[in-house]
Amino acid sequence: MPSQPLLRIEAIEVVYQHSIVALHGVSLDILPGEIHALLGANGAGKSTTLKASSNLLPAERGAVTAGAIHFDGVDVLKTAPAALVRLGLVQVLEGRHVFSNLTVEENLITGGLGRSATRKEIAEDLARVYRIFPKLGERKHSRAGLTSGGEQQMVAIGRALMSRPKLLVLDEPSMGLAPLVVQDIFNQLKKLNREEGLTILVAEQNSTVALRHADRVTVLDTGNDVLSGTAQELSQRSDIQSFYFGQLAPEPLAA
Ligand code: ATP
Repeated sequence: MPSQPLLRIEAIEVVYQHSIVALHGVSLDILPGEIHALLGANGAGKSTTLKASSNLLPAERGAVTAGAIHFDGVDVLKTAPAALVRLGLVQVLEGRHVFSNLTVEENLITGGLGRSATRKEIAEDLARVYRIFPKLGERKHSRAGLTSGGEQQMVAIGRALMSRPKLLVLDEPSMGLAPLVVQDIFNQLKKLNREEGLTILVAEQNSTVALRHADRVTVLDTGNDVLSGTAQELSQRSDIQSFYFGQLAPEPLAA
């Protein structure tokens, strides 16, 4: 795929609170039209990389101290997060943030507000989200806080889709969800990618599901990008599987 990357992260270093170094020169290219999975264990730096890509680190007392990030030709580190959303870089943060007291539909509508959409556009976008996640259509008048974990994750993704993203960034969408629900969510993401060409960057600890759906993969380990390649290449290498994806046989217990 020789096309220009939609998102280019070049050798970024990230420091929290002026002292905690979280990333040591991470690079990542997201090509238009691909699903790119960012894998790694707890604490490897996945969330930090994603937050840097949306210029969200200053809100967490973090800073990119070296390197560069460009989205669609724009210097991310000089652009406010809300402006990045309007340009099409939309992130679903870890942990399913929904407005519990608003209905499912009201939550979705908040996603369209940032781009000052007309009523007609909002109605069209809602219909599209309900086509993608029919369960949300059935529960559109329910309070979001009373829906299941899987439905809340769909609300969070649906709200992001209401902003009409070019690049959808997702942080651990599988977290805390049953395998069938995770499967359902990834199937819909794949469909969006294949049918509408939506580019997706997804961080996951659940490497099995991510490898099954991604085109390309980057693996992080303690703040470094240690491996990258096609999902097919990486899933066939059993040494990588066992080392980086936590499938090593456990050590025998001492007698
Ligand atoms: P997880 O799956 O647990 O979210 P992760 O791969 O996303 O893991 P990060 O959350 O990016 O990893 O964390 C990378 C490193 O940065 C860790 O050592 C973490 O303790 C540190 N870190 C993350 N957020 C902060 C913060 N707000 N302040 C200080 N250190 C932080």
